[in-house]
Amino acid sequence: MTSGIEERIAHGRGQGVFALGSFRKGDILYLGMLDDRPIGNHSHASQISKTGFGFHKGLSSKFNHSCDPNCGIILNESGGHNIVAMRDIAAEDEATYDYAMRNFRIEHFTSSCGCGHANCRGSITGWKDLPQQRKEDYAGFVAPYLIEMDVESAADRKQT
Ligand SMILES: [Zn+2]
Repeated sequence: MTSGIEERIAHGRGQGVFALGSFRKGDILYLGMLDDRPIGNHSHASQISKTGFGFHKGLSSKFNHSCDPNCGIILNESGGHNIVAMRDIAAEDEATYDYAMRNFRIEHFTSSCGCGHANCRGSITGWKDLPQQRKEDYAGFVAPYLIEMDVESAADRKQT
């Protein structure tokens, strides 16, 4: 399943992941398999549950963030995150997802976002910082615990 992508130099953005062939909306570009390395707080660790963080095997950490991504996240049965085409992707396109699709808060990326899209948020922020419209745009392509965390933080706000 991962044969259709390749790590390459992304101009101005270090390494990135590129499609070798075309993908249709819903196709899996990267099948998420978690690594069992012990982890600390690390910029390449991804949130994998409400409180857990982990590393994925393979090219997962090479995908660049975009504020206008062509891929999203779907949690699979192993607890890993598949990276799935959110729209059709042509061969040679860079595949990106929004890091807010799996991390509720993002504190590691203090520099500005270089995705270059018209709707760039300016910095790489987490799910909690996304506008409601963006959350709706991403429906079905985000880690499900983010939705639960939204519900819980709304309930917390009511109590205080
Ligand atoms: Zn951006």
